[in-house]
This record gives sequence, structure tokens and C-alpha cells, in this order.
Amino acid sequence: MNQKLAELKRVVVETIDGMRGQLEELALRIHAHPETKFEEERAAGWLCEAAQAAGFQVERPLAGLPTAFRASFRGGEGPRVAFLAEYDALPELGHACGHNLIGAASLGAALGIALGLREFPGTVELIGTPGEEGGGGKVILAQAGVFNGLAAVMLFHPSSRTILWKYALARRKLLIEFFGKAAHASGSPDKGINALDAVLQTFNSINALRQHLPDDVRIHGVITDGGAAPNIVPDHAAALFYVRALDDGYCDQVLERVMDCARGAALATGAKANLEVQGAYRSLRTNLPLAQAFKENLESLGWEFDQVDPKERLGSTDMGDVSHVAPAIHPYLAIGPAELAGHSIEFREAAASEQGLAAMLAAAKALAMTALDVLFRPELREEIQAAFTGG
Ligand SMILES: [Zn+2]
Ligand SMILES: [Zn+2]
Repeated sequence: MNQKLAELKRVVVETIDGMRGQLEELALRIHAHPETKFEEERAAGWLCEAAQAAGFQVERPLAGLPTAFRASFRGGEGPRVAFLAEYDALPELGHACGHNLIGAASLGAALGIALGLREFPGTVELIGTPGEEGGGGKVILAQAGVFNGLAAVMLFHPSSRTILWKYALARRKLLIEFFGKAAHASGSPDKGINALDAVLQTFNSINALRQHLPDDVRIHGVITDGGAAPNIVPDHAAALFYVRALDDGYCDQVLERVMDCARGAALATGAKANLEVQGAYRSLRTNLPLAQAFKENLESLGWEFDQVDPKERLGSTDMGDVSHVAPAIHPYLAIGPAELAGHSIEFREAAASEQGLAAMLAAAKALAMTALDVLFRPELREEIQAAFTGG
């Protein structure tokens, strides 16, 4: 790394250190006022205000989402780099996924560059992406083209361990409904068509399918309607399934086989099936040259990465869709002990703890330094682009 870039990183890190009080206060304020998917009025407002005060141009709403926004700061001619801010909470549990720290870290990274340098070859963007928890906000933004043309898209996620990258599974959401015929379950069962039986048969067929699927595939569902009373043959029953796999194409093939299980159950019981794919998350593609730059930057701050199998304990994220339209990373920083479980009360407490705030600040610095690598190192941009188009 040349000396000039090292000096610029030092200036930006110092600027972020200077904002420490403001960033911590904001992270705690968002934590104390949890807002669930697409209702993040206050959190989005606070982030926009802070960006506007630093001279960013703010667009809100974005792609028709009232709590999504884009704040841009143009430092000069050059590529566009984006930091994504999440800020939604979980129903009842509050900030048990620590998205308050994601929002504050991405704000810190964006402001650190804009206020620290003022002039630089490119544009930094802070994109507010609401509704990660069950809303797929980034899917909607990706479909609207918000991430097109970006040289890099980054965020950090709080975790129990510090992990440079891991996979996230493609996910399809499937609603299965059956329509039968009500009848007295004891007096005239021969006149009824049992929609619940069709749901149970669907589960059984899926369970038979499991043995013949690769390890990365996950199929899991719940019955959302199982009838009204034991003495009425259920004329309506429904189940909601998630189908997941590492590969998007394979995920669609498994989805088709799951739908065949439902179609078979309809044939077996005489009920009519209605199948509705209600949403999809794409798999996560980590851009490895970009991840390598982040690794070096976080390590320069004294952090160490945990060695983790990138295929271990996988979920899905709406960041997957972003990673298919622009080079992206989604690293994790530890905010508590290794046994800390996500979406728990303990995780919520960690998201407002000293360790959580320290991770937020370190993430802001490492994200900002990585953005400087992208802006000032054309050869890195070439590697990033080659990895993006090649894989
Ligand atoms: Zn979560
Ligand atoms: Zn999360």
C-alpha cells in the first residue's frame, strides 16, 4: 500500500474516532426505539439527518419504500461505493439481531470519508435498507436498480464470532393451500373432502424426499390453518414452507419437487391445491478480493478472525440479491461470547453493550478503509470486477 493511501486511511480513522460519541449515542437511540420492518420511521429519519448535516444529498423515499433512502456525497470523478444501513428490529424482541449497530457503523464509514477527506476520486453512498427481518427490503431495492453500477457494496453484521465470509442460502417461500369440502366428521364423513389430510400428506411426501437431497438443502414448514373443530371435516387447510439451498438453480428444482408433493397430496385426497411462491432470496456471493481488503483493514485495527467453515450453520439474507448485481461483502464482527445466539434476549443486550459499540466503531473504520482501497486502487477494482463477472 502506498504512503498516500495509508495517510488517507489514518485521517479517516481519526475522523471516525472523533464521531465516536455521536455514533454510539445513535446506535443506542435506535436500540431503545425498536421499529419493525418497513416502520423504521425514526431510525431512517435520524440517519438521514446525520448524513444531511454532513453535506450528503438525501433521497427518501427510495424505490417506493418510505423508510428506505440513499444519501450520496460526491468527492470527485470516480467509482461509486456504498455502505448499507440496516435498522429494523424484530417483533417483540427488539434489536435482537443488532441492526442498530449496522446502521451506525455504515453511517460512521460514510461520514468518516466525506468529512475526513471532502475531496476524493468517487462518490460514497449510504443506502438505507429497511425490512431485513422478513421484509426483503434489499430485494425490492435491487429490483428497482438501486445497486446497479456500484463498484462495491458493504455492510457488517453483528455476531457471536468474527467471520470474514460465509455462504447464505437461496430461499424460496411457498404457501400451500388446500380446498376440500366440509361435512360432519362422524355423521357423514363420506360426504367430506379433508383439506387437512392433504397438508399432512404433503409433509409426509416431503419427508420422503429429504433422504434424496444433498446436505445443503433445507425444507421446513408450519401449518397455518388446520381446520376449525374436530367434528368438522376441514374444508380449508394451509401450510407455509421455506425451501433453501446453496445454489439458486438447484433451489428452484427442489421447490418444484416440493410443489409436486402438494400436487400429489391433492390427487390422493381429492382436495384442490393452490400453490403460491411468495418471495425469494438469492444466494449470497461474497466478492473475495473485496473481502481480502476488508480482512487486512480490520486486522490492522488489532482484530482477529475466527476460523469458521463457510458452509456451517447457514441462514439466508436479502443481501444475497444485492451480491448478484454488484460486488459485495457481508462480514461478521463478534459482539459477545461464542455461545451467544442470534434473535435472543442476550443478543439484544449485546447489541447495546460496550463490546457491541466497540465492534460497531471498528466496523465503521474497516468499512471506510476498504472503501478507500476501492476508490484509490484501480488494480483492486479490476480484481473485484473480474471476480464479480467471473463467478
Ligand atoms: Zn436477524
Ligand atoms: Zn440481521
